[in-house]
Amino acid sequence: RAELIPVEKHGIRREDVSSAARRVCETLQGAGHKTYIVGGAVRDHIAGIVPKDYDVATSATPDQVHRLFRRSRIIGRRFQIVHVMFGPETIEVSTFRAAHDADTVKDAHGRVLRDNVWGSIEEDADRRDFTINALYYDPTAQTVLDFHHGVQDIQRKTLRMIGDPRARYREDPVRMLRAMRLSAKLGLRLDPLVQAPIREMADLIENVPSARVFDEMLKLLFSGHAIECVKRLREDGLHHGLLPLLDVILEQPLGEKFVMAALANTDERVRAGKPVSPSFLFATLLWHEVLADWEARKKAGQVSQPALYDAMDEVLDRQAEKLAITKRIVGDIKEIWALQPRFEKRAGKAPYRMLEQPRLRAAYDFLLLRAESGEAPKELAEWWTEFQDVNHEERAEMLLPDN
Ligand code: ATP
Ligand code: MG
Repeated sequence: RAELIPVEKHGIRREDVSSAARRVCETLQGAGHKTYIVGGAVRDHIAGIVPKDYDVATSATPDQVHRLFRRSRIIGRRFQIVHVMFGPETIEVSTFRAAHDADTVKDAHGRVLRDNVWGSIEEDADRRDFTINALYYDPTAQTVLDFHHGVQDIQRKTLRMIGDPRARYREDPVRMLRAMRLSAKLGLRLDPLVQAPIREMADLIENVPSARVFDEMLKLLFSGHAIECVKRLREDGLHHGLLPLLDVILEQPLGEKFVMAALANTDERVRAGKPVSPSFLFATLLWHEVLADWEARKKAGQVSQPALYDAMDEVLDRQAEKLAITKRIVGDIKEIWALQPRFEKRAGKAPYRMLEQPRLRAAYDFLLLRAESGEAPKELAEWWTEFQDVNHEERAEMLLPDN
């Protein structure tokens, strides 16, 4: 049933594929198991994008996989997968999984709660979401097994669902977010059948556990195409109450310019392969709420510094749980915020003490964004750029007089 696509047609150069992923395939194949690189990595290679990680699918059971690789561990309880470690790379190996059947456990809205049956490669392909994600690359034979004309869809730049989009969204509403993200990332147009039901089915997102929605939102915001994704989600009515994270982004009368600058900056960094962090992003998303609260406290007579700390706590108390922000991230966010007023002290020893702050880099990047959006003086940001750059004597000359 699957089409066997030769190298001339799919164009993947074997040398471009992670050698760790290739070795995993070779070892498993050598032990007699059908094994392929699968999913996003194959899709990205065909589209000419460097994949950020590799998934491998195999007929071997998790125990069989684990026994073949010294540096590997079995992950998960319901549906086990194996992480195989090669130097800095981790390859995720999963056993072919069956499509849903009558035994599949679903919630009252039809959402699949559990699917944990091993199956054939055909079944494994059928349970995947989009045609472009159901491609199996054999690095040994250099062929791609294509079950749903995914190669053609990549070449024609179309995102098509495997099966009936309505049914597939009902099983897993997160697929609506994936459609937005993948189409933006790969520059695909949505098949009308993929697009049409989203507006009316958007509410189903509410029934998905918030941690899962949050994970998918983070992927979207760090896809390198956040601005475009956010725009599309707004157009399709996929926020108001459904995606708290997106509500925070889109309902910022005060900070809209700042948040958009932050997202544009994130997109730029991701595309340039630079590191990005959730704490920095959340610090930007909530900054204008902190500013408003801080201002109100100062007006009410509270001293500036404690007022800022109270404002930070107030905003984080209100938002952290809703946005699923973890404790560790809360600490990082506070550090970035707390350093902001300290940039204003440009006399005496204060600026030197700032240079020793472990979080200076993030706090300074944050200051640059504030200046870009007009909330902090451009001159202040430029001063700090220079102060970090120059030598010791020049630094001394830059200091402002004590007042
Ligand atoms: P990327 O890694 O670039 O973010 P991806 O498509 O690889 O995109 P993953 O979350 O890594 O996304 O998923 C790996 C593969 O698992 C997908 O290519 C797809 O085949 C399958 N998959 C992921 N999520 C779903 C889902 N919600 N429904 C069906 N299949 C899915
Ligand atoms: Mg992936």
